[in-house]
Amino acid sequence: MVNAVKDIKSDVCIVGAGPAGLLLGLLLAKQGLEITVLEQNPDFHREYRGEITQPRFVQLMKQLNLLDYIESHDHVKIPEVTVFHNSNPIMNLKFDSLIEGESYCARLTQPTLLAGLLHKAKEYPNFKLLFNTKVRNLIKEGDKTGGVYAQAKPGEQINFLKDEVFVGDLNVHARVTVGVDGRNSTIEKLGQFEVDLEYHDNDLLWFSFEKPEHWDYNIYHFYFQKNYNYLFLPKLGGYIQCGISLTKGEYQQIKKEGIESFKAKIIEDNPILKDHFEYVTDFKDFVLLLCKMRYVRDWAKDGLLLIGDAAHCVTPWGAVGSTLAMGTAVITADVLYKGFKNNDLSLQTLKQVQSRRHEEVKLIQNLQTTLEKFLTRQPVKKELAPLMFNIATKMPDIRETYKKLFTREKPLDIDDAFIFESDKTSDRIEHISI
Ligand SMILES: Cc1cc2nc3c(=O)[nH]c(=O)nc-3n(C[C@H](O)[C@H](O)[C@H](O)COP(=O)(O)OP(=O)(O)OC[C@H]3O[C@@H](n4cnc5c(N)ncnc54)[C@H](O)[C@@H]3O)c2cc1C
Repeated sequence: MVNAVKDIKSDVCIVGAGPAGLLLGLLLAKQGLEITVLEQNPDFHREYRGEITQPRFVQLMKQLNLLDYIESHDHVKIPEVTVFHNSNPIMNLKFDSLIEGESYCARLTQPTLLAGLLHKAKEYPNFKLLFNTKVRNLIKEGDKTGGVYAQAKPGEQINFLKDEVFVGDLNVHARVTVGVDGRNSTIEKLGQFEVDLEYHDNDLLWFSFEKPEHWDYNIYHFYFQKNYNYLFLPKLGGYIQCGISLTKGEYQQIKKEGIESFKAKIIEDNPILKDHFEYVTDFKDFVLLLCKMRYVRDWAKDGLLLIGDAAHCVTPWGAVGSTLAMGTAVITADVLYKGFKNNDLSLQTLKQVQSRRHEEVKLIQNLQTTLEKFLTRQPVKKELAPLMFNIATKMPDIRETYKKLFTREKPLDIDDAFIFESDKTSDRIEHISI
């Protein structure tokens, strides 16, 4: 018999099962708290999201002792990046010149990362997750948030009893609700959070192609070319992912001019792509990423927190969004764990998350703003960009800038209770079923 349950009681309700939401759920479940995660999508399959992780991600996973586990899943290690101007190399950066130890980027698809985190979290019966469940409103107890109203469609429901099925309207009651629902956060709107910074000047247009025979798979490439600037990243399965840097709104103009003129410009810049574009007849293989940067003024309200992209969205420059969001999740876990232990979940306690993360988030946002000036193609700056970049690469403190962007100087200051025991590689999930 199936009971339609309408109320769930939880210590923490997490809205959104992205990298930050799932990591937070896993870490808090490890401490024995009752966790309910709500995810609007039926699964983890998403196109082009957070697939490149910098050495700072590898460092974070190592700190939590999850690195062997994460790396037991399909991934590619990328130890260096090279920048070209009109096809001539002008800069090469080897990550091992910045730090010792975990000196590489790891390319791992976001579905793989999320399924890996969920697989670990499932070991804790106090961790619960409902897919296909969209949060619609906040439960208010005066000024305090006491959970959320959500709507559940039939879908995968993790760690609930066999006779518990949640379909339709749901009330999830929680002492703390955490909005980890991404760059277009519903919780931000429902909680009436104010946005301090909103910036959008550039976009990236993504497509993938089969790796040409002599392509070096272990290197990120950035090309300043005549028509556009390009980022080339190795992708799993023998493919290369390419991002073309555009100014905000430029894609609409490109579409008006038609695919043939666009193809001709790309091939002029990259003759190696001629074969790939022979059969491309429309724009359907391109995916546009709006390079938005945002910062919410105060991340905490009574009973309610905003973290990850929902609180501090960064642009794709440097590919640090996921790691930054996950770093905030780790600090949130530390703050909430201590808050529950001391029975103090006051607004002052919740505010500690932002005060402990503000400096790193702002540092990355400021570095990205500077980087964008060099790497994008605003008409006036376009001609100057490679020259300025070339000069910048020769400056004595440039390595410090890369180091700040790609690596963390010190481990995050968190309780030892969050460190996992040494991993059994047999934990590896063989198939992504979600
Ligand atoms: C195209 C693209 C490429 C990117 N490439 C990189 C990269 O190479 N490297 C990198 O580090 N970062 C990259 N990023 C950024 C990175 O994906 C994000 O920084 C990261 O995913 C943020 O994690 P998050 O958990 O805060 O939010 P998200 O990953 O956005 O997760 C939010 C989750 O909340 C769910 N949700 C939203 N609203 C609701 C609701 N009302 N109810 C229930 N669930 C809800 C969403 O479905 C989603 O699963 C990229 C982003 C994009 C868009």
